[in-house]
Amino acid sequence: MNAQDQPMVRIRSVRKRFGSLEVLKGIDLDVPAGEVVCVVGPSGSGKSTLLRCVNRLESIDSGRIWVNGELMGYAERDGRLHTLRPHELSRQRRGIGMVFQRFHLFPHRTAIENVMEGPVTVLRTSTAQARRQAQELLDRVGLADRGHHYPAQLSGGQQQRVAIARSLAMRPSLMLFDEPTSALDPELVQEVLAVMRDLAATGMTMMVVTHEMNFAREVGDQLVFMDDGVIVERGDPREVLAAPRHERLRAFLGQVQ
Ligand code: ADP
Ligand code: MG
Repeated sequence: MNAQDQPMVRIRSVRKRFGSLEVLKGIDLDVPAGEVVCVVGPSGSGKSTLLRCVNRLESIDSGRIWVNGELMGYAERDGRLHTLRPHELSRQRRGIGMVFQRFHLFPHRTAIENVMEGPVTVLRTSTAQARRQAQELLDRVGLADRGHHYPAQLSGGQQQRVAIARSLAMRPSLMLFDEPTSALDPELVQEVLAVMRDLAATGMTMMVVTHEMNFAREVGDQLVFMDDGVIVERGDPREVLAAPRHERLRAFLGQVQ
C-alpha cells in the first residue's frame, strides 16, 4: 500500500473495557485522508470512548489503531511492540486536534491568548508569529474582532469556535469532535457547524460524533451508527439516512430527528 492509499485513521479489531463493562466490542473503521466520518448512536454506545482511543486518551485492550501511518501508542522495534514513552506519545497526540462538548478554554486568558498558547509553549513558535497565526485562525472562525475578549465575555458558540481555532493552531492532520454542539443553545449550533463545514471543505480529515443529522447528511462522507459497542451500520450518509437497514438505527433516528 502506498502513502496515498493509506487511510488517515485505521482502526482494527479494537476492544476496550472498563472493569467488567465491555464498551468497544471489536471496532473496525477506516477514515481516508480528507474525509469526514460522522459517528452517531445512543448515549453510552461507546462513541466518546472510540474517539478517546484514537488519540490515546484511553488505552485499548486489544486491536490496533494507526493514525497517519503510525501505530498509536507503540513503536515497532526488532519485530516487537514497545510502548511509547510519554514524550513520544505527546508528539503523536500533537497531530490530532480534539474538540469537546465543553470548550475547556483557559478562563484567565483572552481568546487570542488561548489560541497562541499551544504554538508558543509546545511548538516554540515566537510570540509574534503565534499571534499572527492566531489572528488568522480567529478570522477563519469568524471571530476577528473578539481576540481580546475573555471566554466569559463570549457566547457558547463563540467559545467553541475559539476552541476549534486553538486546536487548528497546532496544525493537526486529524480533528476529532465529540458532540461539539450538544452543550450549545439551539440558536448557536449553526455557527459552529458552519465553521466545521468550512474546515471539511479545506480537506481536513475529521471524525465527528454528533446528533446533527443534517450536518452528517451534507458534510459526511461516511456515517457510522454505533450501538452497544459495535458498529451496526455504516455507509454513505445520504443512503443510510434515507433507508436505514437496522431496526435499532430506525429507532434511534426516530428519537433524534
Ligand atoms: P457515548 O459517548 O456513546 O455516550 P461513552 O463512550 O462515553 O459512550 O461510554 C460508553 C460506556 O462506557 C458507558 O456505559 C459509560 O458509562 C462507560 N464509561 C465511559 N468512560 C468510562 C470510564 N472512564 N470508566 C468507567 N466507565 C466508563
Ligand atoms: Mg459521548
